[in-house]
Amino acid sequence: MDSQQKSKRGKIFVVSAPSGAGKTTLCTKILDRFKELAYSVSHTTREPRAGEKDGVDYFFITTDEFKKKIEQNLWAEWAEVHGNFYGTSLKFIEDSIAKGRDLLLDIDVQGAKQFKASFPEAITIFIMPPSIETLQERLIKRGKDSDSIIEKRVKNAANEIAQSSFYEHIIVNDDLNLAEHKMVELIASKIEQQLN
Ligand code: 5GP
Repeated sequence: MDSQQKSKRGKIFVVSAPSGAGKTTLCTKILDRFKELAYSVSHTTREPRAGEKDGVDYFFITTDEFKKKIEQNLWAEWAEVHGNFYGTSLKFIEDSIAKGRDLLLDIDVQGAKQFKASFPEAITIFIMPPSIETLQERLIKRGKDSDSIIEKRVKNAANEIAQSSFYEHIIVNDDLNLAEHKMVELIASKIEQQLN
């Protein structure tokens, strides 16, 4: 691959955060703002939540299908999160970046580490909640998960925050508008670098 071809490869933004940190809200705003940025729809074995659509929010697949794809090395990364499997299609990533499409991945910390090992050029961003207490309050207010699931997610959050130094960029989501502004600036600077 010559340098000109290389420079046309799509940029990959990997975003992680404990659930309740506001990552989905921020990612939705970013995808609205940057129309050229495509969302990498993950595969999962978890049940769809109310309102979630297959092929839009996730590709919902069975555990058997998921495990077969592990054996076939079809995942760019995969992880078990909160008792369910989640994975990113390797073919989707390779095809997209070869076509020069910029991508946004919303994946957990384990997945981000695997992904960065295979795609070192990926730009890693961690959305940090202001505190564990705020995170717990947000999860309860969201009302999407049962108490036991919230408890699991809060425990997992502390573990994920402890690994946040792995990320190249940390955005604290205390004030949503400010966090959005920081993320827009970061992504714009990276995409413009590619255009220049
Ligand atoms: P949720 O079930 O709330 O949609 O997502 C739970 C967690 O799984 C989130 O931290 C999310 O970032 C992560 N996740 C979603 N898709 C993937 C994926 O493809 N790979 C990995 N490793 N994590 C994912």
